[in-house]
Amino acid sequence: MRHVDTDKDGFALGLERGDAVRAIIEEFAAARGIGLAEVSAIGAVADPELGYYDLARKQYVRKVFAGDWELASLQGNITIKDGKPFLHAHVVLGGPDFAAVAGHLFDAKVAVVVEAFMRPHGGRIERSFIEEVGLHCWAIEG
Ligand code: ZN
Repeated sequence: MRHVDTDKDGFALGLERGDAVRAIIEEFAAARGIGLAEVSAIGAVADPELGYYDLARKQYVRKVFAGDWELASLQGNITIKDGKPFLHAHVVLGGPDFAAVAGHLFDAKVAVVVEAFMRPHGGRIERSFIEEVGLHCWAIEG
């Protein structure tokens, strides 16, 4: 993975074929002490594992989409979970039939490239477990 610092609002990350998307982005944030950031990306990914959250059962339906996919959009954020930067991202993927597949991103490998921007904000947000929804959510008050 290569990166450049952009002028004022963050980093441009060039992920390379075979990189694990989650690990690369989370390790990049950890190395810079980033506790809150926006993340966006496009590119192409392989074998993405997505989730759909079943609120009634309080668990994700998980599915691996085998093969190579256009990463039409990744939108997400970095916050702190269990003391470390955590990427929460949702994606829209496209295959050869041009139909969209979308969901919560568990992980994916880079198939061709992934071109990402990370825009840190000052401060940090921690995640804490919320029983009502069964997930680690932003621990903010107000
Ligand atoms: Zn999600």
